[in-house]
Amino acid sequence: MASSVRNSITKSIEEVIETKKQGDRDRTAFGYLEPPGDIPKFAQCGNCLLWIKNKKQCYWFTAEKEVVAEASCILYVYGKPMEGNFKPVDAVTPEEVGFVNGKVRCENCDAFDPEESKCGIFYRINEELPTVFNLDEKVKPKACCNAFYRGKFRKEDFKEGEHEE
Ligand code: SF4
Ligand code: SF4
Repeated sequence: MASSVRNSITKSIEEVIETKKQGDRDRTAFGYLEPPGDIPKFAQCGNCLLWIKNKKQCYWFTAEKEVVAEASCILYVYGKPMEGNFKPVDAVTPEEVGFVNGKVRCENCDAFDPEESKCGIFYRINEELPTVFNLDEKVKPKACCNAFYRGKFRKEDFKEGEHEE
């Protein structure tokens, strides 16, 4: 390889590494999704492209696994569910993709600060790893991400110096 070509490739790799050092991991690292408009049950199987509606199955699981409209997982894609003679492909297990039954979304997550509409996890990560992450902490109540955990928000769990005795 001509040295000028090698030099420019090396320079380009170094530039990518340098950019990464400046903290450009954004919320896509967590699969953060916002609904296109007002969709009250966003991020649940009932409006996922991979849900086989007439059979109450998920395209990714086995045919034996019942999947109701209220469930969810990290492979969610917003869209009109499948209907007809689709067969599940048994590609992943529900455990592998964080399958949960019930409401998800920021509004039901223990990291969601409803007063400021901010994510406590994103805030904490930005504080702890500023050279690695640059996460927009402002989130929408109807949005969701793969770090969802059902619960009530407690500021002291996320802000330093606000722990209860
Ligand atoms: S389990 Fe996941 S991929 Fe399957 S239908 Fe529900 S949200 Fe979609
Ligand atoms: S509030 Fe919960 S679901 Fe929303 S972005 Fe933060 S961790 Fe994810």
